[in-house]
Amino acid sequence: MSSPNSGATDLAGVTATLVRDLAGDTVECTACAHRCELDSGQRGVCRVRENVDGELRLLTYGLVYDTPYGPPGTVDPVEKKPLYHFKPGTDILSFGGASCNFACKFCQNNHIAFSDPEEIELREVSPEEAVASARAQGADGIAWTYNEPTIYAEYVRDGARAAHEEGLYTGLVTNGYFTEEFLDEVGPHIDAMNIDVKGFREAPHRKFMGATLQPTLDSVERVQARDIHLEVTYLVIPDLTDDPEELQEFTNWVADIDTTIPVHFSRFHPDHEMTDRPPTPIETLERAHETAVDAGLEYIYVGNIRSQEFNSTYCPECGQTWIRRTGFDSTVVTDPSESCSCGREVDIVP
Ligand code: SF4
Ligand SMILES: [Zn+2]
Repeated sequence: MSSPNSGATDLAGVTATLVRDLAGDTVECTACAHRCELDSGQRGVCRVRENVDGELRLLTYGLVYDTPYGPPGTVDPVEKKPLYHFKPGTDILSFGGASCNFACKFCQNNHIAFSDPEEIELREVSPEEAVASARAQGADGIAWTYNEPTIYAEYVRDGARAAHEEGLYTGLVTNGYFTEEFLDEVGPHIDAMNIDVKGFREAPHRKFMGATLQPTLDSVERVQARDIHLEVTYLVIPDLTDDPEELQEFTNWVADIDTTIPVHFSRFHPDHEMTDRPPTPIETLERAHETAVDAGLEYIYVGNIRSQEFNSTYCPECGQTWIRRTGFDSTVVTDPSESCSCGREVDIVP
């Protein structure tokens, strides 16, 4: 049974499989694009993977950030991830854990993302308990989100596999800073991903996120090429990622990959170490939306604002409403398993 687990528990963890042996006791972690080379006793940038006597171990396997009582996880509408073109109107049980492989100065989940696994209370939830919790709470799927799921790849893989065995779908909300090896190992068990792109310029990305941008862009292309439903979120931060040219380059880049990838422009709110600027003005978000229309993108949304106009889904051919959304409430107007009245295929996974 799941039980509260104080941060003082010894974190023995499990053997990591996303690893490559180097000379002597040194290992390379191959889960994320940092590709940390770790000597015995060293932890990676993410602080949850450690070389213990020459073996890479995931210290937080089965340890999630959650209230200690009640069924594990948080039930959310799938729209909240955000996933707008995947199983609309269903509920997804969400899990997150300690730490991260990025260090975003505006992180809204900084209470977990900037904590070592020993610094916060974590709860033991096995993959099977996660699945049982989803079933008990009537959720249709499981998501790993809140902090970066790449860093606990082996737990995600086992949880997603268990979820599929029980007929649940699976989702990841990720910064996309993962490797091809991660995608080979975990990807086959994942049905949907939302990849967060935080700007389209290398230098500020390195400075404000603590990691390079290119691996995230590579992941967007790789995921789209696989059998995984993909949506992309772009965080619009005033004076950091909102330059009109930058937005134009980003939207052209997505359109070159596939004009049907849903793109969510997300509103920045001051948080953590970035409180020197206001929330993104609505006009800036509207301008981003316009830029995406000009680039030829077909499904564009503006998140974190309550606007039906910018959050509903319309047929790109004839304008017919497919899904009407207010907040996270969605009403399916056009059955995704049928075609639009104009004949266009409805680009929504039913
Ligand atoms: S997941 Fe990334 S940050 Fe963590 S140890 Fe592996 S390569 Fe390093
Ligand atoms: Zn139509």
